[in-house]
Amino acid sequence: MPAYFLYARKSTDVEDKQVRSIEDQLAELRDFAKREGLNIIEEFIEKQSAKTPGRPIFNEMIARIERGEATGIVSWHPDRLARNSIDGGRIIYLVDTEKITSLKFPIFSFENTSQGKLMLGFILGMSKYYVDNLSENVKRGLRQKIKRGEYPSIAPVGYLNDVRTKTIVVNRKKAKVVKAAFELYAKNESRLEDISEFFYQHGVITKGNKRLFRNRVKNILTNPIYHGLFRYAGEVYEGKHEPIITKKLYDKVQEVLRERGKPDRKANDPKVFCGLLRCGSCGMMITAEDRVKLQKNGNIHNYTYYHCTKKSKTMKCPEPCIREEELDRQLSEMIQRVALPEEWANELLKMAEQDKQEIAHSSAAIVQETRTEIQTISQKLQRLLDTYLEQDIEREVYREEKANLLSRRKSLEENIDDLEHGRLAWLEPMREWIKEAQTLNEIALAPSLSIKKSFAQKIFGSNLTLHTREARGIAIHQWFSLACAKENFTENNFSSEMVPSRGIEPLF
Ligand SMILES: [Zn+2]
Repeated sequence: MPAYFLYARKSTDVEDKQVRSIEDQLAELRDFAKREGLNIIEEFIEKQSAKTPGRPIFNEMIARIERGEATGIVSWHPDRLARNSIDGGRIIYLVDTEKITSLKFPIFSFENTSQGKLMLGFILGMSKYYVDNLSENVKRGLRQKIKRGEYPSIAPVGYLNDVRTKTIVVNRKKAKVVKAAFELYAKNESRLEDISEFFYQHGVITKGNKRLFRNRVKNILTNPIYHGLFRYAGEVYEGKHEPIITKKLYDKVQEVLRERGKPDRKANDPKVFCGLLRCGSCGMMITAEDRVKLQKNGNIHNYTYYHCTKKSKTMKCPEPCIREEELDRQLSEMIQRVALPEEWANELLKMAEQDKQEIAHSSAAIVQETRTEIQTISQKLQRLLDTYLEQDIEREVYREEKANLLSRRKSLEENIDDLEHGRLAWLEPMREWIKEAQTLNEIALAPSLSIKKSFAQKIFGSNLTLHTREARGIAIHQWFSLACAKENFTENNFSSEMVPSRGIEPLF
């Protein structure tokens, strides 16, 4: 029977507030180990965050695994083990070298197969991704609100926040003006300044009673909320609120905006790949310029060249420049290298779905138990009050006892919340990521340079450099795991190594 170490960690990170306390983790992990019949030989408890490498207890555990004292780890979630790429890499390395043959998590099942390792790599990468990206829109409550189609922010002009229902409702008077402005602009006879004037005359003004700036006007004219959708944190959602204009009118306005916006935008816009790469020699940013080339035969060509800004004061940078077409070709190739093959995507989605089912199943029983305990506490509170009212106990004793019970009840309620939502929190971003990673082939082949740029930033972060006309970059987070996995297997042997059943079955 393989020997296991149990590892529990309470983070001090703010974003970890939802994670259960050490005691809860321990209690549940011990239960889990018993259910699964795992032989735990020692418990390791860490009080330090996993964001930066160098946790003393974690290091000790790893050293002892390297010495062969145990071959398995039981922990709450992969993100307890590693939230930085160094620790994540150590775990994966130990799995690769078979020092670790089994990892057990109550909320994620690791299979020691090639795709299991790939999945583990993703989850470890995802944990890091979480640390970096945990923003408001992934927070549970807000997410639920958005999913229900409720606009989660201050109502835009034409709407009002209804405090009672916590939704937005049409502001009849202003909505009329907004609609008229859309209609006016759709005629393609007005500038944004004219619309601003129109708004001014009809009472749509700034807080300081001034005319809206043209950017504010543009924001209004491009806000999909008016035809029933809404944008939040860069994404568009279906709203439950009443639309003010038709989608048709909205589309017409977008068309006019595009048409009128064209000439002046081109002159001012910086070149698309600016700000994406650094110089491989001196570390300064890469910038761009247009050059006109007059060929001997009299033909004129316009080219965009990218080159180092050469702003370094300590060295004279020797790097040459590169044509935009060539840079585009190289970046597209790099993006393609981390495209997720459909077969892998399907397999990962299947595994994620299976995990979801298992988690939901195992949570249900605990949630039920916790609910019963909450009920008992509520009854105790009632009895306590009765006793106090009958003057059988002192006020002080009553107060203290009541505080204890209330606090216990609060913790239990939070545990339920955690079980019902927190344990599955990684699933949705994982699914979204899989979808995104699948589209990369398409994106690499598409003509839009700005979309390529934004993906290159996601995949490589600030790691992109240019060395003698060659773009280089190491992928970050889960993209890194994917890049490694793709280097290690071809599509075919990945699928041939797939095993139909779960369990430990080391294949290499
Ligand atoms: Zn340079």
